[in-house]
Amino acid sequence: MIAKEWEIWLLTGSQHLYGKKTLDEVASDAELIANSLNKSEGMPVRIIHRSVLTTAEEILQSCKEANHNKSCIGIITWMHTFSPAKMWINGLKILHKPILHLHTQFRRDIPWAGIDMDYMNLHQSAHGDREFGHLMSRMQVERKVVVGHWQDTETINEISTWARAAAGWNDWQGAKFVRFGDNMRNVAVTEGDKVSAEYQFGYSVNTHGVSELVKRIEEVSDGDSEALVKEYEDLYQLGEGLKKGQPHRQSLAEAARIELGMKFFLEEGNYKGFTDTFEDLHGLKQLPGIAVQRLMQAGYGFGAEGDWKTAALVRAMKTMSYGLPGGNSFMEDYTYHLEPGHEMVLGAHMLEICPSIACEKPSCEIHPLSIGGKSDPVRLVFDSGPGPAINASLLDMGNRFRLLVNEVMAIAPSHPLPNLPVARVMWQPYPDLKKACHAWILAGGAHHTCYSQNLRSKHMEDFASMAGIEFVLIDKNTDIYQFKNHLRLNEVYYQINRSF
Ligand code: MN
Repeated sequence: MIAKEWEIWLLTGSQHLYGKKTLDEVASDAELIANSLNKSEGMPVRIIHRSVLTTAEEILQSCKEANHNKSCIGIITWMHTFSPAKMWINGLKILHKPILHLHTQFRRDIPWAGIDMDYMNLHQSAHGDREFGHLMSRMQVERKVVVGHWQDTETINEISTWARAAAGWNDWQGAKFVRFGDNMRNVAVTEGDKVSAEYQFGYSVNTHGVSELVKRIEEVSDGDSEALVKEYEDLYQLGEGLKKGQPHRQSLAEAARIELGMKFFLEEGNYKGFTDTFEDLHGLKQLPGIAVQRLMQAGYGFGAEGDWKTAALVRAMKTMSYGLPGGNSFMEDYTYHLEPGHEMVLGAHMLEICPSIACEKPSCEIHPLSIGGKSDPVRLVFDSGPGPAINASLLDMGNRFRLLVNEVMAIAPSHPLPNLPVARVMWQPYPDLKKACHAWILAGGAHHTCYSQNLRSKHMEDFASMAGIEFVLIDKNTDIYQFKNHLRLNEVYYQINRSF
């Protein structure tokens, strides 16, 4: 999750041509901009003004400090005056943190009557930022460019969107994800190259036998398990059979035991997310349902059937959206409604949908599960509310990773679903179901996604850019002919620019 101490540094470029008075003004203007951005509504981390940089040595030193400072999750650069960009080469060569080039100007309007050469010499970003942009393009530095006055709402929103992506990226660096068991047998899309992922994304994925988890679950005391059952009682509507004295009460205690055992395992190993699989539940009495749902709500990433790529993505998206209303969940495109003119997707999973997207008090229920061969699992059942949302899928294409996003409109549940024993969401994908599914399938998108109510495709685009991976978007403007060509062009690009 986004930590209080995380910062983004504003580095302002200049040079010694203009004298001390101008440099003092540059410094105070930059400080004012940083403070203003810092106080703006919705900025997820602190924006800190660092010194004005006027020499290659200072620039290199600042980039080194940004790399090594644990609080710094990214830098914003701005050339208030002209800053000859060759001075930036050595700094940018070693910079590992995400970079945003803010192309702004301190004064919004030209003072028509008062403008003179002194004013012009101070307000030079129109050409100073061009010089800097040229160098970054020549060096092929992956960066975000934001253009506009620094007090403009659109400018601030673009910066805060990027800052959220930087927070997700920072959270991945050095993160650990654990898999209880392997991928579901024979499934293609949940597989992937964990070595490439660690190189590209900075997180590691390793497996522990499910028996190690079972051992931890068995160590959970009756008292702790009973206390958690009490919490379930307080928070949820308990379904038939689960109340005190009813036949499935023991299953509820077992579900609580599984949740606590998993939580201890994750905490002890300092893991940020996990996977499990119904094909490897040796020693577990039921497939974890409510346990996974509640751990996701607490911020852990999760992917079912060994899907570690989605687990990591869910975690990143939860970090990116920290503090925003709405939620993020592991999701699966489950079943279609193909009524002409009202086409929609029913999203759900066997059990594991995060209650952060619930629009009502979840009910805690127990039902049989036709696969897995274990006791009936306890799960939370709920509907999810209407509104704009996205589905994001992270794919290993063999020579690269692709982040695929579809913008969708979730719709309020129109019919009761009394016999559906799982949490669910209904949505209409953009541009429409036929084109969206066509494009998704052409792009090799997975059936597993992270569904987000509070992130937009721009967050994901910025995130993919930081990761240096392919980003493919399906939205209102998607046209299948152009989409196919876009995929073909990307194919050529990534054949030439192969990643690890
Ligand atoms: Mn699945």
